Amino acid sequence: MPAPTLILFVDALPFDDLGQLPGLNGWAWKARLRPGFGYSINLHPELFCGLDPDRVGFFGEWALDRTGAPGRRYRAVLPLLDRLCRPYLLNRGLQHLLTKRYRPDRIMPNLPLRWLGEFSIHGEKVEDPRFDRPSIFSRHPGLQRVSTAGLSKGARDARVVERAAAAIAAGAEQLYVPLIDLDGIGHAHRRSSEAWQAHLARLDAWIAVLSEGFLARQPEGQVFVLSDHGMADVTGSVELRIEQDIAKAGPGRFLYFSDSTLLRIWVFDPDLGEAIAAYLDDSPVATPIMQPEREAYGIANPAFGDFIAVLDEGLCFKPSTFARNIPAAMHGYHPTVSSQQALLAWRGPAGREPARAAAVDRTLAVFPLLDAALGRAAGDR
Ligand SMILES: [Zn+2]
Repeated sequence: MPAPTLILFVDALPFDDLGQLPGLNGWAWKARLRPGFGYSINLHPELFCGLDPDRVGFFGEWALDRTGAPGRRYRAVLPLLDRLCRPYLLNRGLQHLLTKRYRPDRIMPNLPLRWLGEFSIHGEKVEDPRFDRPSIFSRHPGLQRVSTAGLSKGARDARVVERAAAAIAAGAEQLYVPLIDLDGIGHAHRRSSEAWQAHLARLDAWIAVLSEGFLARQPEGQVFVLSDHGMADVTGSVELRIEQDIAKAGPGRFLYFSDSTLLRIWVFDPDLGEAIAAYLDDSPVATPIMQPEREAYGIANPAFGDFIAVLDEGLCFKPSTFARNIPAAMHGYHPTVSSQQALLAWRGPAGREPARAAAVDRTLAVFPLLDAALGRAAGDR
């Protein structure tokens, strides 16, 4: 018989900010989580499926994929279109036209047009029907999810809390509540802003109301609060000049993909490999992630890039494939950077703690705890 379980997911809540949530900070069981490299597209499979990028099979949303690239038929003209359509809106408009039967919901806002012939979308969100790995949601059909559908950005959390409170009052025994506005508030306003701090205060109050409401209704129940990554204020931008400094990119030479804080490079011309390695080693703003660390974080698959590098805390590529401008705050820095680290907190009957908190130190460690709390899944023996 599974214990009644409430899961409160708070996007982008840094462990370092717990001091600003006095209610949550008072919970006895709290763990600091090192995230994996990358963004939510990979951190959610870590949290909810226990799968790192090597095991889930993708790293980032877009992957090098010449045979599946949405613009492969236009490959001959894309470089020219890219040069002619540099203005941002023209580029985005053309990208929409060229990919309108592809994935209109998943446009990379500032992807160079010439990359449409080389890269395709491989990373799927855990909640997307195309995501086919077992997760806490597929393994535990009794877990109700509060929907964020139809809610407008920045005003979602208050409505989600209302919907969650109603579900708890109606007797929900297993409930997942996504509180997702903090991430966008950070990107728009900075972590040091009043808007961020005001939202932390609201979150602390909502966490108290929902967890107390749930435990009052389900005295044997337990509550998990978790986040996927932290946030750091952006202090500067980096213009990537690898093509000016090394060689023109392209098939047969090398290709690269710059997300906001991450750089992935695929090398086809062996003569360029050494120059690119030296270029990254000498960079004053980025750290190449070497093989032992790639293995430790589950990004060892060579298809993810011959080179992967991460910018120093506070820096963002400008432009990057993701945006032409930089956000006020960002995540996706090295997982050992304190500001990037996430949290798991637990509350429930004494003696039922899920594990020793100090032993739970990575986002990858969360899935087994949630999975066990939700009880034996259909198909388990
Ligand atoms: Zn974000």
